[in-house]
Amino acid sequence: MKISNCDALIFDLDGTLYNKKKIAFFTMMQQWRHLRILSVSNKRRGELKGVDFGDSVLYYQNFYNSIGEELSLSVETVKDWYINTFYRGFIGILEQRYSARKNLKTLLEHIDKEFPMAVFSDYAFVEERLRALEIDDSLFSVISHSEEYGVLKPSARPLLDLSLKMGVSADRTLVVGDRVDTDGEAALKAGMMFYHVDSEDKWDQFSKEMHKYIEMRG
Ligand SMILES: [Mg+2]
Repeated sequence: MKISNCDALIFDLDGTLYNKKKIAFFTMMQQWRHLRILSVSNKRRGELKGVDFGDSVLYYQNFYNSIGEELSLSVETVKDWYINTFYRGFIGILEQRYSARKNLKTLLEHIDKEFPMAVFSDYAFVEERLRALEIDDSLFSVISHSEEYGVLKPSARPLLDLSLKMGVSADRTLVVGDRVDTDGEAALKAGMMFYHVDSEDKWDQFSKEMHKYIEMRG
């Protein structure tokens, strides 16, 4: 894909800024005492794809309640597992086993001089996860996640808000993500451009084209 007419970028995190290969396996290994709640939580996230609660309070209420009901657990227990076991574990796995894509730092620093960037994930604790990957979070003008908006991908609403915050119109915003059904679909609905990156090769290609585009832009 040729990059053109772009004045802002929105990066997905998982699978885009790092290769997330085997992460489901490492998560299961780590959560082996919590496999039932992990599986119900994953299933619930799947069911909530694109369901807009309008805000995070209602989203979390529904999410924790439905898992609690299915497993006969209190909302407090579910919430405690999600934040203190699941997310803390997620951050730990990134810290121990994963690192940012090749030459990410050079590329981000180059883009940062030209136009604003956001990072937007379906999962929370984005700053903590960027730090675990040793990605400099100060390079992004906006850092956000779906749970904060109360709607998982592929909703257009968060993306439109991010471009507004960066002061760039939707049609001049490029979404970079590893999933066509979430990142790509959301970008399409928001009237934004989409660049698919789900491998080292595609990352290299994206990086080359981005450097070229910035040069051309002058
Ligand atoms: Mg992703």
